Amino acid sequence: MRLLKEFDREELMEIGRSLHSFAADLYPICRSITGEGLRQTLGMIGRRIALQISEVPTGTPVFDWTIPKEWNIRDAYIKDATGNRVVDFQRCNLHIVNYSAPVRAKMALHELRPRLFTIPEHPDWIPYRTSYYKEDWGFCLSHNQMLALKDAEYEVVIDSTLGDGHLTYAEHYVPGRSKDEVLISCHTCHPSLANDNLSGLVVATALAELLSGHDLCYSYRFLFIPGTIGAIAWLSRNHDAVEHICHGLVLTGLGDGRGFHYKKSRRGDAEIDRAMAQVLRHSGIAHALLEFSPYGYDERQYCSPGFNLPVGCLMRSVWGTFPEYHTSADNLDFIQPAQLAESLRTCTSVVDILENNHSYRNLNPYCEPQLGKRGLYRSGDGEAISEDIIARLWVLNLSDGGNSLLDIAERSGLKFSTINDAADLLCQSGLLSAVDDQGARIQRPGCISFE
Ligand SMILES: [Zn+2]
Repeated sequence: MRLLKEFDREELMEIGRSLHSFAADLYPICRSITGEGLRQTLGMIGRRIALQISEVPTGTPVFDWTIPKEWNIRDAYIKDATGNRVVDFQRCNLHIVNYSAPVRAKMALHELRPRLFTIPEHPDWIPYRTSYYKEDWGFCLSHNQMLALKDAEYEVVIDSTLGDGHLTYAEHYVPGRSKDEVLISCHTCHPSLANDNLSGLVVATALAELLSGHDLCYSYRFLFIPGTIGAIAWLSRNHDAVEHICHGLVLTGLGDGRGFHYKKSRRGDAEIDRAMAQVLRHSGIAHALLEFSPYGYDERQYCSPGFNLPVGCLMRSVWGTFPEYHTSADNLDFIQPAQLAESLRTCTSVVDILENNHSYRNLNPYCEPQLGKRGLYRSGDGEAISEDIIARLWVLNLSDGGNSLLDIAERSGLKFSTINDAADLLCQSGLLSAVDDQGARIQRPGCISFE
């Protein structure tokens, strides 16, 4: 495959608007790690890309964990004596501690107070809280809302159910020529929060759409799963697929206006880590590479020592480091079309590297071949040597069958696409030949058919 997609400015803007609009459609749904909100979300993604849905029953052991009870909610509120809903789940689904057990009670404010959560430093924002693995209940509200509560009795209702059911996750598989896989994973369990992680869902869906119909070297598996327990459940049930994973990315927090952060896989020098570093280095966008740590998103599970998969995490702002994180301020205004589109482009550039990172052999290795007579060198003596010609010299020099194009891009400091173009041209000129790199490098089985 050559390039997955080259976007011009107008196309990027259009793509960004479409990504944002899809996020807006998903935004109102009350998602959780189980339940109808999660199913509804997967249903909407499934209208764009074919999904295989799995339902794992409550009580199923998945490694050291157990699939929890299924949670669903119809309504929740705190009503004052006049019947006014002073906190109303129907207005914002963050108002409820996600996974709250059902409650119907009359309570004085001082009894209710320990179950109310606010952010005093941002008095208009509602926090996002969960209680998945400890049966509990509570309400989240803005600090100003709480200050306005009078010392009186309130009717407290959480119309939820917690019972035997299922945990739902979905997969989208794009077959390539090889069974070796690239894993793209994103969490689907957060309610009305835009950056964390509707941004990941919409970028992953769009990437899957873009891959469709291409002649791909790798197969691609997209996972839309509830965070932590979903990844653990999938890993525990898919030993065969796991063996085929050669590269992987967790996508999250891709819509805010800050620069990129890429958290490397546990291995630290996997091809995906190097490909992402290469893309970001030449992107012209502010970015930082983060070493692996055992905290964060589902890369924690993929990179657990038993698997140690080459899976990194691409995000913009890092979890927990920005004030809007896990609050109502992570809304549709916090994610921007241009940033979503740029995130998608970053992902496609990485796919381009993975798909084209082959090794070649210089067929004329004794001194430099005469490029001028082949029309591959500058025409006049006074003309400055171009980057394209420098790239040809690098490719010729380092193509000894062992170095990949990514090796050459890194060593030369040139952009991967420039090196890739040079290799294409030199192949056409008969100076270079691709080698089947089976065995030459780890995790690059012979998925490319070369003569
Ligand atoms: Zn989160």
